[in-house]
Amino acid sequence: MDLADRYDELRRAFDRGDDARAGALFHEIVGLVPRGREEPPLPAGPPPARTALLRHDQPRAIDLRALRAGARDIAKFEDLGLDAALKLERRLRAEGFSVVRSAPYARRFDVSLTVGGAPTRFDVVASRGDLAERFVEAERDRSYAGTRRAGELLGYPACCIEHFIALERSAAAEHEGVNEVVLRAFADSSDEIGAGGAGTIPWELNSLSQHAPVGFAACGARCTAALAFARRLLGVLPAEELALVRRVLSRPLLVMRLPLFWALDGAAHVEPPGGASAGTSHAVRYDVVAVHDHGSHPALQAWGARTVGVALARGSDVRLDERSLTISGEAGTFRWALATPRVPRLLCFS
Ligand SMILES: [Zn+2]
Repeated sequence: MDLADRYDELRRAFDRGDDARAGALFHEIVGLVPRGREEPPLPAGPPPARTALLRHDQPRAIDLRALRAGARDIAKFEDLGLDAALKLERRLRAEGFSVVRSAPYARRFDVSLTVGGAPTRFDVVASRGDLAERFVEAERDRSYAGTRRAGELLGYPACCIEHFIALERSAAAEHEGVNEVVLRAFADSSDEIGAGGAGTIPWELNSLSQHAPVGFAACGARCTAALAFARRLLGVLPAEELALVRRVLSRPLLVMRLPLFWALDGAAHVEPPGGASAGTSHAVRYDVVAVHDHGSHPALQAWGARTVGVALARGSDVRLDERSLTISGEAGTFRWALATPRVPRLLCFS
């Protein structure tokens, strides 16, 4: 896969201290045109604080809560290490659920791909009745019919399952991995002409968080079935916790790639196409910024920190349209032209 190869090449260039090559690869991967020598130099660090917004080593708490409360009859906990998988399996069995643990597999988190290598990750599927066994059976069938059946058994909306199957077989998914493609398609669906609240996404459908109730590819920002699914799960949370989750899921996100995105504490503003900007323009005025870093790609993170990261850390406004990314604040205004097709997205929730 092209993106996985470029990630590996970036990693190698970074490890051998080849800044010129690593810088070129980084900009290519995140779709930014390198800034010219004649442009104002980026501010000196420090870059934004690091935090793991998505955790690959813990079962998603909301799925666990929803399963216990009866808001889900089945839940799949993915990519757990052996200790976490065994602990979860024991607990859920003791609570009376049927539980199936997958065979171990190896996972590359930067591209969300199952790969060769030392198998250290496990899925744990738990359900009432025999749903878990039926799900694992369906998943074993690697055809589209198997994917469809597995999605149905997990209770995902039919429209979202078909959308995922279509994207999974696309050429883009072959180059970048289906999760990258799913994310961009979802972000862009919020800009569609005629969509209510154009440019913003219901906060309940934000999937880039450990607190997210939606762990599947929603077919669009206006999918009412996905929204109903999300609300059913969120409904099990007590009011105070729900308010906290809502605050976390409502934060605007500047996304370069799945292993590199920033969460902003601030207010979003979306301008529809027309006027001075090209296409829909998203802008956020913010106070605090943190970068998602789960340790899956140190080289990508390091280059993110020394480019967009330092500008965000000293800035207070970020704007993204079809052609450019602009970050401005007390230290000045810093602009990057975007490569085509556009990679970065600024996700704004409402
Ligand atoms: Zn849908």
